[in-house]
Amino acid sequence: MLLSTEAQLRECEYCGSHVTRNFRRVYGDVDGVVHRCRECDTLVRLQQGSAAGRDVPTPDPQNTPGRHGDEPARWSE
Ligand SMILES: [Zn+2]
Repeated sequence: MLLSTEAQLRECEYCGSHVTRNFRRVYGDVDGVVHRCRECDTLVRLQQGSAAGRDVPTPDPQNTPGRHGDEPARWSE
Protein backbone atom coordinates (compact mmCIF):
# COMPACT_ATOMS: atom_id res chain seq x y z
CA MET A 1 0.00 0.00 0.00
CA LEU A 2 1.39 3.36 -0.99
CA LEU A 3 0.85 6.23 1.35
CA SER A 4 0.75 8.63 -1.58
CA THR A 5 -2.48 6.99 -2.71
CA GLU A 6 -4.15 7.91 0.51
CA ALA A 7 -2.93 11.48 0.27
CA GLN A 8 -4.92 11.93 -2.92
CA LEU A 9 -8.15 10.96 -1.27
CA ARG A 10 -8.46 13.86 1.09
CA GLU A 11 -11.06 15.60 -0.97
CA CYS A 12 -14.73 14.97 -1.57
CA GLU A 13 -15.22 13.41 -5.00
CA TYR A 14 -18.32 15.47 -5.57
CA CYS A 15 -17.34 19.00 -4.60
CA GLY A 16 -13.62 18.81 -3.87
CA SER A 17 -13.92 20.02 -0.30
CA HIS A 18 -11.32 18.85 2.15
CA VAL A 19 -12.42 15.92 4.29
CA THR A 20 -10.70 14.66 7.38
CA ARG A 21 -9.19 11.21 7.70
CA ASN A 22 -11.71 10.44 10.38
CA PHE A 23 -14.60 11.44 8.14
CA ARG A 24 -13.29 9.17 5.40
CA ARG A 25 -12.99 6.26 7.77
CA VAL A 26 -16.50 6.69 9.11
CA TYR A 27 -18.42 7.72 6.00
CA GLY A 28 -16.25 6.83 3.01
CA ASP A 29 -16.41 3.65 0.97
CA VAL A 30 -14.16 0.63 1.49
CA ASP A 31 -11.36 2.31 -0.47
CA GLY A 32 -11.53 5.42 1.66
CA VAL A 33 -13.13 7.44 -1.11
CA VAL A 34 -15.58 10.09 0.02
CA HIS A 35 -18.28 10.55 -2.59
CA ARG A 36 -20.17 13.22 -0.69
CA CYS A 37 -19.29 15.37 2.31
CA ARG A 38 -20.91 17.76 4.74
CA GLU A 39 -20.24 20.65 2.36
CA CYS A 40 -22.41 19.21 -0.38
CA ASP A 41 -24.77 16.84 1.37
CA THR A 42 -26.88 16.58 4.48
CA LEU A 43 -25.84 14.66 7.56
CA VAL A 44 -28.92 12.46 7.23
CA ARG A 45 -27.86 11.31 3.79
CA LEU A 46 -24.24 10.89 4.81
CA GLN A 47 -25.32 8.63 7.63
CA GLN A 48 -27.40 6.61 5.18
CA GLY A 49 -24.33 6.01 3.05
CA SER A 50 -24.25 8.78 0.45
CA ALA A 51 -20.60 9.47 1.23
CA ALA A 52 -19.82 5.85 0.41
CA GLY A 53 -21.43 6.25 -2.99
CA ARG A 54 -24.68 4.51 -2.14
CA ASP A 55 -28.09 5.55 -3.33
CA VAL A 56 -30.10 6.75 -0.37
CA PRO A 57 -33.84 7.41 -0.14
CA THR A 58 -33.50 10.92 1.26
CA PRO A 59 -33.71 13.62 -1.46
CA ASP A 60 -30.38 14.98 -2.62
CA PRO A 61 -29.99 18.63 -1.54
CA GLN A 62 -28.08 19.27 -4.78
CA ASN A 63 -31.13 18.25 -6.78
CA THR A 64 -33.75 19.87 -4.59
CA PRO A 65 -32.23 23.08 -3.23
CA GLY A 66 -34.16 24.63 -0.41
CA ARG A 67 -36.94 22.06 -0.51
CA HIS A 68 -35.62 19.38 1.80
CA GLY A 69 -32.79 18.73 4.15
CA ASP A 70 -30.67 21.23 5.93
CA GLU A 71 -32.99 24.21 5.94
CA PRO A 72 -34.94 24.31 9.21
CA ALA A 73 -38.67 24.56 8.90
CA ARG A 74 -40.18 27.88 9.85
CA TRP A 75 -42.56 27.37 12.72
CA SER A 76 -42.98 30.99 13.62
CA GLU A 77 -45.77 32.88 11.90
ZN1 LIG B 1 -18.59 17.33 -0.97
